[in-house]
Amino acid sequence: MDLLTVLVLNLIFILITTFVFQYIIINKFKTLYQRHAKPLIVLLAGSQIVFCMTFTLMINRDFIFDLRLIPVVVGGLYGGPIVSILLFMVVGLVRIPLGGDGVWVNFFNMLTITVFTSYISLKFRSFPLAKKLYTVVAVAISYTLLIFLMKAAVFKNPNDIQFMVIYGVTLTVGIFIIVYYIEIMKQNLVLHNAVIKSDKIEVVSQLAASVSHEVRNPLTVTRGFLQMLKDPSIEEEKRLYYLNTAIDELDRAETIIKDYLTFAKPQSGTASSICVKTEIEKALELIIPYANHFSVSIKKDLMEGMNISGEASKFHQCILNIIKNGIEAMPNGGDLVISCRETEGRQVTISIKDTGCGMTPQQLARLGEPYFSTKAEKGTGLGMMVVHKIIDEMNGRIEVKSKLEQGTIFKIDLPLYDTEKREI
Ligand code: ADP
Ligand code: MG
Repeated sequence: MDLLTVLVLNLIFILITTFVFQYIIINKFKTLYQRHAKPLIVLLAGSQIVFCMTFTLMINRDFIFDLRLIPVVVGGLYGGPIVSILLFMVVGLVRIPLGGDGVWVNFFNMLTITVFTSYISLKFRSFPLAKKLYTVVAVAISYTLLIFLMKAAVFKNPNDIQFMVIYGVTLTVGIFIIVYYIEIMKQNLVLHNAVIKSDKIEVVSQLAASVSHEVRNPLTVTRGFLQMLKDPSIEEEKRLYYLNTAIDELDRAETIIKDYLTFAKPQSGTASSICVKTEIEKALELIIPYANHFSVSIKKDLMEGMNISGEASKFHQCILNIIKNGIEAMPNGGDLVISCRETEGRQVTISIKDTGCGMTPQQLARLGEPYFSTKAEKGTGLGMMVVHKIIDEMNGRIEVKSKLEQGTIFKIDLPLYDTEKREI
């Protein structure tokens, strides 16, 4: 086989397997992927490496050309350091039996690439698309130069420019297409989830009527008990029971109204610059007695001097709803950590982490849906819906990760208050 045939064959195999992997695993078996992402990436990239190294162009025993670099780099960058090291081992296992001095060259090159991808992979996921593409293109070009330099320097092998260009261009274009494709698929997935969430919001606007029904229940119960209290012959113990039940029911009605009203109320438009640290501290003050009641200790790590645009009362409610859920997830005590810091792209990231009961992937997917609650009569299932609505209004994003029996982490990204824009 000539060089071009080998490279095209390698590229087609990598493209097809990546496509099938993304389509089947991520779309149809999302939970499997969420749980075992790393082994699955090793399996995919590993088989791509073996394929590439089977269909190669062997110039002599020292130099073997193929596109194994693509799965090594892409797998490593998306999978992280451990995946990177495993893929390095796969390359070694296939390459060593072929022999030749090239084993050492290959070992050295792959080691350099593995160290590099392991390091970059820690930040790679948060890179914007363009930076991801530059990075992989730079790796492909540097690798091509490295190989040909070594070929000339170590083996005094004259370089054929045309050969080098064909190899370099296929490698670079190949890795570009793969990363671009993966990113587009990921964006589609995010978009798809966003559409589902906004569908949920749509449903809610039609729910006003059913809320009045929800409130009517506790009110009817309260009315019934108050009626019974009119009877003067009633025993003291029963009287107390009736009174307490009536108060509980009124509280419940109040919670429903509070949860719902923030949601249904249109934006009043009085957004102003609010200090994240101060407002979180105000919200914490309100919730601390509740936390103490459940022996939950709240730790905070709040960066000073960050302002966002929004309504303080809504922001409080949003933070309170999340913290309240966190506390309720730890009925036997635990730790709740709230932090805020500035992140890339003039954003504030607020993270709220608990060590509570966590959620199953199914529950996680339903989070924010109106009336979804696992707390039976104690829950309203409106708290998280309100949170989504408020964050949406503030042009923010919310991301939730949860593991059953281990805990949950809420990450909220909000744009920093833009002073320059306001001054114009
Ligand atoms: P409610 O708290 O009234 O049940 P929410 O909308 O606030 O309603 O929350 C919906 C559901 O999401 C909860 O019933 C619970 O099952 C789940 N949930 C929310 N936050 C957490 C958390 N931090 N840990 C575990 N489960 C949570
Ligand atoms: Mg709640």
